[in-house]
Amino acid sequence: MGDGAPISVQSMTNTKTDDVAATVAQIGQLSRAGCEIVRVAVPDQAAADAIARIKQAIDIPLIADIHFDYRLAIASARAGADGLRFNPGNIGSATNVRALVDCAKDCGIPIRIGVNAGSLEKDILEKYDGATARGMVESAMRHVDLLQDFDFHNIKISIKASDVPRTIEAYRLLSQQTDLPLHVGVTEAGSLYSGIVKSALGIGSLLAEGIGDTLRVSLTRDPVEEVRVGYEILRALGIRHRGPEIISCPTCGRCEIPLFDIVERVEKALLTCTTPVKLAIMGCVVNGPGEAREADIGVAGGRGVGILFKKGQVIKKFPEDQLVDVVLEAVGQFERQLASE
Ligand code: SF4
Repeated sequence: MGDGAPISVQSMTNTKTDDVAATVAQIGQLSRAGCEIVRVAVPDQAAADAIARIKQAIDIPLIADIHFDYRLAIASARAGADGLRFNPGNIGSATNVRALVDCAKDCGIPIRIGVNAGSLEKDILEKYDGATARGMVESAMRHVDLLQDFDFHNIKISIKASDVPRTIEAYRLLSQQTDLPLHVGVTEAGSLYSGIVKSALGIGSLLAEGIGDTLRVSLTRDPVEEVRVGYEILRALGIRHRGPEIISCPTCGRCEIPLFDIVERVEKALLTCTTPVKLAIMGCVVNGPGEAREADIGVAGGRGVGILFKKGQVIKKFPEDQLVDVVLEAVGQFERQLASE
């Protein structure tokens, strides 16, 4: 992470961590969706104890998320966690942090200082008259200094608020003060629509400015959706391309096929596809190919006929009811061709 490595996509399980079977199953789903680092909540000793068994059954790095008890962080590290995330506002005294640092050093794992606007230290809230971006940065840098005073430098930082302007301002200020890797996200961004919009704007703006080494989209949803949205943000910015990009028209009065349903079926069938192929699914045969010249593969339909096109050139016609099958077959061919090159 950092130093030119690809920007990684993270998520967090929402199972009870001590339910090892459920947590492992969800991490498996996340990993298949492209999640590269997973975080689990460690609210108690049972959760910390579960980490050893979870680690044996997963294939991506696991971060233990600790809020109040530094002893749980130590137990998690000893159980095999690949990193610790703690919230400086409520972890306790410098002595506790020291114990945590000694353990992380011993285990050779990084610590993420995860500042949340909602849990800043009291003195900072008073100094800045609330949870301002400057206050968040001061909290983060205070804890960076504390860890570095203990000669610990394997540090990442996140500095999230639930609103976009404050999140962006905080990360901008922070990036001027440190070269440490930054994990970016908008916390508690909300339900699917508001969460996607806030994350795309917040994370997207920061990444477009070159700020951020790893990201998490936060949604009140199945965390697998967070991973998908994370990749969509990276793709939209041209940073990373994973899986198919579906270009589909908004439909208009010329549309003669059930386009919404077709796009949904194609999207669902290609959920686990990791090949970066550009697909166009257009609502009419007249304008479709022309409107999607850049697509690797495209289909359009109307008046009983479907057409397959590549880079805007019509390849063949077929019965319209075969549209979904034709596009999936064309993706298969595209993948085989890529593999043979
Ligand atoms: Fe309308 Fe055809 Fe354009 Fe879709 S591709 S928006 S149906 S003109």
